[in-house]
Order: sequence, then structure tokens, then C-alpha cells
Amino acid sequence: MLGTVARKLRIFGFDTLYIKDICDNELLEIGIEQRRIILTCDKSLFKQAIKKGASGVLLKGVDENEDLVHVLSASGVYSINFDICRSRCSVCNGSLVKKKFSDVKKNTIPAGVILYQKEFFECVNCYNMYWDGNHFSRIRSLINNLNIRLRNSKERKSIETVDSVDCIH
Ligand SMILES: [Zn+2]
Repeated sequence: MLGTVARKLRIFGFDTLYIKDICDNELLEIGIEQRRIILTCDKSLFKQAIKKGASGVLLKGVDENEDLVHVLSASGVYSINFDICRSRCSVCNGSLVKKKFSDVKKNTIPAGVILYQKEFFECVNCYNMYWDGNHFSRIRSLINNLNIRLRNSKERKSIETVDSVDCIH
């Protein structure tokens, strides 16, 4: 359910595991052992995670952008940048390394891309190739949009904090 959110977080540079078909206990174990933030739409799993001392964020799983804003702001991240050198492979979470143009296996890249693109990155695990194409423009515009929503969410939070301080007085 959260596969798209996981892929986007990887592209933004966050180390993100996405494991299908795993039982709750195993997932909680991995989350705690590796000090990960457990993202879930499952209320009971979220409650278990918190009870066991793990970090968790409960998502709605309806609107991926809303979920991204929620997980980022809940983790104290109010601004993100796009830097392909820090991105992770959207398929497998592997790190990306820059490839010399001469080392790129040309048969793995569409012919049209080879003509205008000279910078390529490769996943160290699955060898998936990445380059600055149309999909990067879409990612940049998504990031602009998310940053606006994150800024608004930060402002809302600071207003709520002021309100709660007022209540104490
Ligand atoms: Zn990969």
C-alpha cells in the first residue's frame, strides 16, 4: 500500500526498506534493531510499534503526497532537496554511483537518451540506471510542491504550539 511513498522517499535520499509479505513481529524487530521509523496504515501495528518503543508514523494510505508530508513533518523534516548523488535506487534502496560515460553499457539506455545525456548513475545492487530526464523534472516539481506543504505544516505546528502555551497561562 505504501510502495509509492517508499519509492519517493528513496529518490529523496532516505534509506527506506519496503518489505512485502512480512509478519508484524518480524517487521517490528527489524524496525527496532535498525532504528527505523515504521510507516504503516495499520492502526494496531502502529500501536504495537509505539508500545515496544519503536518509532512509528501512522499514515492514511489514500493520498501519497499527503502521506509524504505527514511522514516528513512527523520526522522533523520541513524542507527537502533533490540531489541525485544522495538518492537511492527507487527499486531496491541501493546507493547510486556516478558512472563514467565511457563505462556505461549503452545497450541498457534508450538510444535517444544517449544522444543528449552525458551523466549517468547506477545502483550498486541492481544496476538500474538513472539520468536527468523528464522524470527528474517531475521529481523536482513534486519536491517544490511538498516543500510548500511542509512549510505550511511547520507554520501550523508553531501556531498550535503558541496556542498550547496560551492554554497553560
Ligand atoms: Zn537498485
